[in-house]
Amino acid sequence: MPACCDCGEERKQYLIVYIVTMEKKSWDPAVAFPVCMTGILVTSVALEVVYLILSNPGNGQVTLLLLTSYLIFNVIGNMVKFIQTNPTIKGVFLEHGIMGQGWEYCYSCQTHVPPRCHHCFDCNVCVLRRDHHCTLLGKCVGHSNYRYFFCTLVHGWLALLLATFLNAEIFMEVLHEGFGFHSFFLLLMPWMMLVTGQVTLSAFVFAFVADTCVIGFLFCFAFFTLHSILLYRGSTTKEWFRGPTKEDYDLGWKRNFQEYLGERWYLVLLFPWIESRIPGNGINFQTAPNSRKFSKSTDL
Ligand SMILES: [Zn+2]
Ligand SMILES: [Zn+2]
Repeated sequence: MPACCDCGEERKQYLIVYIVTMEKKSWDPAVAFPVCMTGILVTSVALEVVYLILSNPGNGQVTLLLLTSYLIFNVIGNMVKFIQTNPTIKGVFLEHGIMGQGWEYCYSCQTHVPPRCHHCFDCNVCVLRRDHHCTLLGKCVGHSNYRYFFCTLVHGWLALLLATFLNAEIFMEVLHEGFGFHSFFLLLMPWMMLVTGQVTLSAFVFAFVADTCVIGFLFCFAFFTLHSILLYRGSTTKEWFRGPTKEDYDLGWKRNFQEYLGERWYLVLLFPWIESRIPGNGINFQTAPNSRKFSKSTDL
């Protein structure tokens, strides 16, 4: 039974048949293509890092191999969980009395949607507490899969940091040979150098993967910084950019972590399959005490 709003108005009873299921759709090319490309990139980086570690025997080789395996395992595991988890309104059936403060009507889905739920034109469906559409994984980041997105980001960033550190040796060798136009273009445009026959295939592969590691590291670092701030504030990307209402859902850093990563937020980085129940249902959200936009809900 839903609780009342703090404004005193009794909320209409409504029935939520909330079925959390994986999307049963077949392989959608819009999802499969970016996932395959991301998988190829992850595999390339992993193979190159393992090759670099094995080709430089010495102290710490076993430790580096174990660390690399752990990071790659977590990246792939969280990616799989992210793709399997459905953050959309599919499987969420709302019956009579759904209208409330903050609810809007989506003309594409032809249904009323709760606060923080927004339509994604790539996924072609509304997403509960939508953050953004992840192009690399071909799916939206929302209420139920944010944890896996964030963990993929953290482990991906650490793996690319390690790869960049190991690749630094290659960069130093190139620089020691003299930083001429050949070295410059090899690192800047390896594809062009390969097509024009200026480099061997092995030199191209190393330059390409090394470039991917550096660019990926900077990319992940920027996203990690942004989402750490959003997580701390309990805000989505859209709410943060919107500005004036960005503090509406800020319940304090600890509660925000629970809302986004689950009740066992302090364990989720260790292993993708650790249970961490999200306290909310993605439909009703408790707001900060000074919020003026939506009324406070206690039925979490
Ligand atoms: Zn929609
Ligand atoms: Zn989407």
